[in-house]
Amino acid sequence: MAILEVKDLKAYYITHRYGRTTSVKAVDGVSFKVEKDEIYGIAGESGCGKSTLLKAISGLVKPPLQILEGGVTYNFDGERLNILALNDEKQRRKLRGARLSLVPQGSMSVLNPVRRVRKSFEDVLYAHFDLSEQEFEDVVRKHLDALGLDWTVMHTYPHQLSGGMRQRITIALSTILKPDIIFADEPTTALDVVVQRGVVQLIKKIKEEQQNTLVLVTHDLSIHANLCDRLAVMYAGKIVEEGEVDRIFSTPKHPYTIMLLNSLPKLGDSSPRSSAPGAPPSLVNPPSGCRFHPRCPYVMERCRTESPDLIEMGNGHRVACFLEEGSK
Ligand code: SF4
Repeated sequence: MAILEVKDLKAYYITHRYGRTTSVKAVDGVSFKVEKDEIYGIAGESGCGKSTLLKAISGLVKPPLQILEGGVTYNFDGERLNILALNDEKQRRKLRGARLSLVPQGSMSVLNPVRRVRKSFEDVLYAHFDLSEQEFEDVVRKHLDALGLDWTVMHTYPHQLSGGMRQRITIALSTILKPDIIFADEPTTALDVVVQRGVVQLIKKIKEEQQNTLVLVTHDLSIHANLCDRLAVMYAGKIVEEGEVDRIFSTPKHPYTIMLLNSLPKLGDSSPRSSAPGAPPSLVNPPSGCRFHPRCPYVMERCRTESPDLIEMGNGHRVACFLEEGSK
């Protein structure tokens, strides 16, 4: 059963300056479903629209970001809810935290640098429950214990903690209300490899204990390989390939996915890896036709003018490339 259904979503950053309107087409016609209890990964280079997609589907839409089209429907135990149709920010805020939670990029954007960590937990819990001090302590202690974090962190200021510990606390804070679905945006960015492993283990632990659904955004394909059940690859505001992680890693179909996978180091292979040639396009004026055509080694004439749809290849593997049209 799908807990989240995103349909034809278009989310643009629209600015008006000196009489000129500029639209950054960060999410441009994206559709996908996330099944209950799965870990769904979203991959792609920086600037491909994956963080904007997370903001839009978690209802964090503030100018200049605007939703132009599409729907984002949640199914919480049979109760269907279109978050974009909720006009009241209070209602959206209530939904976030209790039903869905966003672990944003960068722990310092969540933890207030001039307040002790405890205050951040108080803000979250007291916004949803009327608790006595003892009840507050019991709830937080239990959650921290389950995640292997010490109660003493509650008395610290964020700057007194390492980057890895801050990120762990941010994750603990985002999951204390046991949300049905968690969105994690680049949760291991700016951490060294050893600390990254600890953060990935922590996310796995929470998922196992709370039995929630996880949508994980990262450019790091090794994390997707480690954690995710299914993966969507984004390029220039669109999903270009989607399927089970094992299938995408063993038989990638889209030239962009193949390019990304070829740039990864391989065990026992010391030959130099080639990074993806070229750079992602501007989302203000994305290329016509297939947006990948300026970088694609297999570009055909029609790719310059026609935009390929996602084609179902079987077993839920979908690819947006004209090369796959005959191989369905
Ligand atoms: Fe390359 Fe054309 Fe396929 Fe786009 S549609 S990925 S340009 S072959």
